[in-house]
Amino acid sequence: MSKVVKFGGSSLASAEQFEKVGKIIRADKDRRFVVPSAPGKRDAKDTKVTDMLYGCYALAEEGKDFKAELKAIKERYQGIIDGLKLDLSLEEEFKIVEKNFKEKAGKDYAASRGEYLNGIIMANYLGYEFIDSATVIFFKENGEFDSEKTNEILSERLKDCKAAVVPGFYGAYEDGRVKTFSRGGSDITGSIVARAIKADVYENWTDVSGILVVDPRIIPNPAAIETITYRELRELSYMGFSVLHEDAIFPVRREGIPINIRNTNAPEDNGTWIVGSTCQKSKYVITGIAGKKGFCSINIEKDMMNAEIGFGRKVLQAFEDNGISFEHVPSGIDTMTVFVHQDEFMHKEQQVVAALHRLANPDVIDIESDLALIAVVGRGMKSTRGVSGRIFSALAHKNVNVKMIDQGSSELNIIIGVTNDDFEIAIKAIYDIFVESQL
Ligand code: ASP
Repeated sequence: MSKVVKFGGSSLASAEQFEKVGKIIRADKDRRFVVPSAPGKRDAKDTKVTDMLYGCYALAEEGKDFKAELKAIKERYQGIIDGLKLDLSLEEEFKIVEKNFKEKAGKDYAASRGEYLNGIIMANYLGYEFIDSATVIFFKENGEFDSEKTNEILSERLKDCKAAVVPGFYGAYEDGRVKTFSRGGSDITGSIVARAIKADVYENWTDVSGILVVDPRIIPNPAAIETITYRELRELSYMGFSVLHEDAIFPVRREGIPINIRNTNAPEDNGTWIVGSTCQKSKYVITGIAGKKGFCSINIEKDMMNAEIGFGRKVLQAFEDNGISFEHVPSGIDTMTVFVHQDEFMHKEQQVVAALHRLANPDVIDIESDLALIAVVGRGMKSTRGVSGRIFSALAHKNVNVKMIDQGSSELNIIIGVTNDDFEIAIKAIYDIFVESQL
C-alpha cells in the first residue's frame, strides 16, 4: 500500500504542528509521499507565509528595500527549525531567494518559496528525500498544467523512491521558470503525486474533521459528511464549498483513487471520503447543502414563445455578446428566466436589455435582484421519494417564498432560488428537516 499525504498550511504553521504531522506520518508506514503547503496562520491574527512572500516580492518589484519583510519570513522558518531541534540551516537558500527577488524572478517564483522551503524542512525532519517540484511538475507555455508530461516524468522519478517530500503549489515551464497553481493549489499537487504513484489513498490533512453538510457560519457545529462522490463535491464546490481546491479532483479521478479529508488536530476522526462511486448510503438522504447570494433574474415574456424556434438561442446570445455567463435558465410556455451573477450583470444591465430587444423582440422584460441560489445535493435523492416535497413544505413552514426550482436530470441536486434575505432561513429549514431531525 502507498499513501500520499498532503498537509495544509495550518497543519504546518509552527514546530508544534510539525510534531503532530510527524506523529501522523510515522504512525503508518504507507504514508510515504508527503506534500506540504507553506506555513499558514498560527492564530487568527497571523499572516500566512505565502502572503508574506507576495508582500515582500511586491516591494522588490518596485525596487524598494525588502530586507525587513524577508527577515520576518526567515524567522518563521527558523522558529520551526529551532522548535524541532533540526540540524539544518536555510542561510544559503535565503541568499538565493534574496538574489532572485532583486533580479525580479517573478511573483510565482516568490510565492512558491513558501512550499519549497517548508519541503526542505519537512524532508530533513522525516529523513525523506526532497524533490523540487520544479523538476517534476510542468506547465505548458500558455500557462495550462501539462498533466501528461508531468505524469510521465513524475511517475518515473518516484518509481524507485522509498519515501519523498514533494512541495505543493508549484511546478515549472519547460525552460525552468517557476509557475504556481492558483491559491490553495497544494491540494492539486497532492492529487498529481497520488496519480503518478497510483496511490491507494490520497489523504488530505487539514484543520477540520472532514467536509461538513453545511457551512458552519450558517449552522453552528453541523454534521460531517462520511462519504461523498466526486460529482456531488463538484456541485457543492460550485455553490461555495471550499474544503478542497476544485481542480484537485481531476488527477485522482482518472485513476479512481479516493481522497480522505482528515484533521491534523484530531487524527482519530475518520474524516470524509471522496470517491468515484459508492454503494454507501449517505446518512441523511441529502449529502450537503450549499448556496450563494447575489444573483439577478431576468424574466423574459413573449406570446407564443413556445412556437418560435431559436428564441432561447437569441436570448442567450444577448448575454453572450455582453460577456455574461448564465447560471440557470428555467422556462415556461411563454416565459424564460435567466439567472446571472448580480455583480457581473449590474453594470451591463441596459446593454443586455437593449440586446434582448434587438435580438429576441420580447413583450416584457422584468428584472429582479438580490436573489440567492441554494443547492441541495445528494446521490440518495434519486432513489428516495418525496425529497422535493419535504424541502418545499419545510420552506413553506418558515414562510420562505420559492422564486425558482431547477432539478437536474441526474437527480443529483435541486437548485432553489429565494431572496437574499431568506437565504439563511431557507438553509436552516432544509438542514433541520433532513439532518437535525434525524440525529
Ligand atoms: N500556500 C499556497 C496558498 O496559500 C498554496 C496552498 O497552501 O495550497 O494558497
